[in-house]
Amino acid sequence: MAKLTATDRLTTWAAGSDSRAVEFLRSTLGPLLLMLVTPPAAILLWIVCNFAPFDGALTPLLTVEGWRAVADNFPHPSRQAVAMVLVFVAFEAVLLRWLPGKSFEGPITPAGSRPRYKLNGVAAWLVTLGAFFGCSSGLGLFSAGIVYDHFGSLLITLVVFALLFCLFLYFKGCYWPSSEDRSVSGNFIWDYYWGVELHPVLFGVNLKQLINCRLSMMGWSVIVCSFAAKQGELTGHVSNTILVSAGITVVYLFKFFWWESGYFTSLDIMHDRFGFYICWGVLAWVPAVYALTAQYLVLRPHDLPWAVALAIFGLGLGAIYVNYAADEQRQRVRETGGNTTIWGRAPELIKARYTTADGRPHESLLLVSGWWSVARHFHYVPEITLALAWSLPAGFSHVVPYFYVTFLTILLTDRATRDDKRCRKKYGPYWDEYCRRVPWKIVPGVY
Ligand code: NDP
Repeated sequence: MAKLTATDRLTTWAAGSDSRAVEFLRSTLGPLLLMLVTPPAAILLWIVCNFAPFDGALTPLLTVEGWRAVADNFPHPSRQAVAMVLVFVAFEAVLLRWLPGKSFEGPITPAGSRPRYKLNGVAAWLVTLGAFFGCSSGLGLFSAGIVYDHFGSLLITLVVFALLFCLFLYFKGCYWPSSEDRSVSGNFIWDYYWGVELHPVLFGVNLKQLINCRLSMMGWSVIVCSFAAKQGELTGHVSNTILVSAGITVVYLFKFFWWESGYFTSLDIMHDRFGFYICWGVLAWVPAVYALTAQYLVLRPHDLPWAVALAIFGLGLGAIYVNYAADEQRQRVRETGGNTTIWGRAPELIKARYTTADGRPHESLLLVSGWWSVARHFHYVPEITLALAWSLPAGFSHVVPYFYVTFLTILLTDRATRDDKRCRKKYGPYWDEYCRRVPWKIVPGVY
């Protein structure tokens, strides 16, 4: 089995100065706990939303009756659920392969290569939702609430399949790697959790693009639409609360595919290897947790005054816009080599030098204007705000609809810290210069 190579050590740009206890916590104990807790939690949240005695509340988990209900309602994989997953995977793989789209070269990897992607996400998104509603509401081949009807079986199928698939990815990375961009630490827990390969490819398909974008984000779009449709089937009326919550999510996901090339320059793709953290996360945690508010609302239809509903929708759209604008500024500045304007002016830039594993020097641009002058990760503020906006329609009687936004806040705070460490290691004095000019990590004046 390949060991961590000198190349990997030089170029993972990960933090290297932690004490042994912190290192053990981050590389073994923390990952192990996360991997033990999150799969059952994904299922538990579905049971809490849909069965008595929970009715959306977590407190029955403190009672014997509550745990009896968990055991009674624990879902099993079903033939229909497996068939639905297989059809969806095949459909999305075909769209990714055959729908026309430009080829896009991702950023240079630590080992010095450039992965290629196909930019046909918007077309695939339109075809997917068109096919889903065309076959359900149009042709009547199945009900549009089908995803909700089978959601328990779908979740357990995804949870188990993704755990096994991550094991496959581990062995693939060890014995049949797609490229030099990989590392094996020798600590199985860490390697399974974090992944071995950065850009695994299977049958010519870039797995990160297929799984993160075309299965997870695309699946999430179908899920929230199906949840809203299910409420209509159950009550004869689609409440404005689920419309606003699902509507903000759908706009956010459309934006995702519009900006898909930008996603290929994000941490998920550029730096995080493909193991439990990303792969299991996008295949099982995203459907279970990211669509939780819409799931919660299906059985709790209520309407808000339209002025309030529209104000929340406006908050969500505004936050999506600011988040997109920040991502777009960074992408545009790098694509144009700085020959562009940010907020009407020539951008302030730091020309940061770094070296890849092959010893070659490179130069990169750090933007010090626009949203990137407000704080070093200010774009996480609108990301959290838009998630709050699609949670607010659920009201304040239970905490479950706010589970995602709470989780996201913790995730992004940790991510900002990780990214700062990584960038300091990569850029050294250039990153220190950026921190001097933009001292706040996420929220100016606060953190
Ligand atoms: P970022 O967009 O924050 O990218 C971080 C990278 O950008 C850094 O590693 C560095 O990479 C580069 N960079 C940092 N500062 C600058 C600068 N001043 N100028 C130019 N480049 C800079 O990555 P994320 O992946 O965290 O976020 C991407 C998007 O995804 C965001 O919109 C975020 O909100 C969203 N997101 C959503 C999540 C969810 O679960 N809903 C989770 C995580 C992110 P380099 O090595 O290239 O210099």
